[in-house]
Amino acid sequence: MSIANSEIQSLTASQFERPQKFAEFCNNGGSPLGGLINGQTVAGTMNATFETIDPGSHQTLATVCEMGAAEVDAAVRGAQNAYLNADGTGWRNQPVEEKIATVMKFVELCERDRDILLACEIFDGGKVSELAEGDFGQIRACAEYFSEVARRIPMGDGDSLEVGPGVHGFSYREPWGVVAGIIPWNYPIVLTSWFIFPALLAGNCVLIKPAEDTPLSALYMGKLAEEAGFPPGVINVLPGRGELTGQFIAEHPGVRFISFTGSPGIGQHILRTCDRHGTRMKREMGGNGSAIVLADADPIAVARKIGRYTNQHFGQTCCTIHRVFVDRKIADDFIDAQRDFFQTLKIGYQADQGTQLGAVINSTQQDRILSAQQQTSLRGGSPLLSGGVAEVEGRSGYYLKPALFKTEPEIDCNPSEVFHAFATICPVNDAEQALTLANQSPYGLGASVWTQDIEQGVAISKRFRDGTCQVNCHNQIAYGLPYGGQGISGGPGAGVNCEETFTDYTQVKAVYVSQYDA
Ligand code: NDP
Repeated sequence: MSIANSEIQSLTASQFERPQKFAEFCNNGGSPLGGLINGQTVAGTMNATFETIDPGSHQTLATVCEMGAAEVDAAVRGAQNAYLNADGTGWRNQPVEEKIATVMKFVELCERDRDILLACEIFDGGKVSELAEGDFGQIRACAEYFSEVARRIPMGDGDSLEVGPGVHGFSYREPWGVVAGIIPWNYPIVLTSWFIFPALLAGNCVLIKPAEDTPLSALYMGKLAEEAGFPPGVINVLPGRGELTGQFIAEHPGVRFISFTGSPGIGQHILRTCDRHGTRMKREMGGNGSAIVLADADPIAVARKIGRYTNQHFGQTCCTIHRVFVDRKIADDFIDAQRDFFQTLKIGYQADQGTQLGAVINSTQQDRILSAQQQTSLRGGSPLLSGGVAEVEGRSGYYLKPALFKTEPEIDCNPSEVFHAFATICPVNDAEQALTLANQSPYGLGASVWTQDIEQGVAISKRFRDGTCQVNCHNQIAYGLPYGGQGISGGPGAGVNCEETFTDYTQVKAVYVSQYDA
């Protein structure tokens, strides 16, 4: 057995100080931060506010106004006007190069205010700097990719064909009009970017509903959008609770399309609501990612790499590895190395130098994770690291220890997404047994296989029942390839980050034309 000679780090924090401008933005001159609707900052008719906190310290960062039914309605009407003004002009009909110019101006403003957006991600989202910086880079990457796609994919009339004597027909591609993005808390900047750029470049006007836990980056991006020159109503930001603001959005018949990212349960609920009035939807949802480690893999090196992927954003990443199936021949070494990796993660405040495992986002998540750790034991998993609450000196955040369990093929102790540095390791007899077990999950977002035999790895990866299948890597995501889920993890829709994502934000109708021979 070879020993890994290079250290594989978890994502690690650099010291990050709170920028003064971030504090000023949060303080907002002593008033709560309002929603951004039709070019106006609004407090909302419900007179309701909520506080957004730093999960690593419980410190209140900002007070935010909650948007109600009246604000959702105003945002929809503003977006409808901006989409197609009474005189036929409007965002929809702006030439694609003009749309791209506004989008790229917005990207430049985000880059000008990089520190403030990083602070949103680090303090509001509880993320380490190394990951926040990677997320920030997605703003430009996503805008540039979809600008190219928008240049390539023609809107309007498709090719004409003769369908009968004197009759021809053609397809006609157009935007939906008003589309809404419902965003979760774990990757606010990335997921807002993944939503707005294809939607806007296809000609839609957007409503953004950020997660209640992380509203700050979307509100700041909304301000920058105005400065970039998006006409009023093209981009609206509606902070508030999911069951209230989000529900009002899902129920509004003027919203023609919803892009949802979040948990399968909420996604299924919104889909049912949308179906009542024909609103279309795409859904990107949670996973319970698996990794298969074959007998020819180096158990120590691979255990550390898998540990690194399991701990991305402290396990709060949708495609995180939570279920490992490892060949029995190397299982003992693999387990020792993975336990060692988790045990040595530095638990701490997310903005302190060296932190690798910070606080989880809120108390509900904390309770869910603790309960899942107990349930895994009760269902037959043997604790290698049993988890529990962690203390961080001088901080009162939602800190938890990592948890790792050994299991056996006949034990089903990890049925749902846990969303922390949590994994079960199951020794298996061969790759076939591993595949059967990996594919038993109702989720189907991300899976990987680890082996020196690339040919066998590729063959196995194609048999995963997952949207993203990887060989000797796990959280790779590239523009040009679909990132979506199978099973309860996704659909309908083509996933994100590919050409079909752009066409998801459009609809196609058929137009038939006959000669007038009455
Ligand atoms: P939730 O499903 O709880 O929430 C997602 C969004 O939906 C939030 O903005 C939430 O608002 C809103 N919402 C809640 N209830 C309703 C409702 N009745 N009507 C309309 N909107 C509603 O997910 P989490 O925020 O907990 O995010 C974590 C989940 O997201 C995990 O399952 C993770 O795997 C998944 N995810 C999937 C990704 C993918 O690409 N496949 C990427 C990232 C995350 P509020 O926050 O106010 O409750």
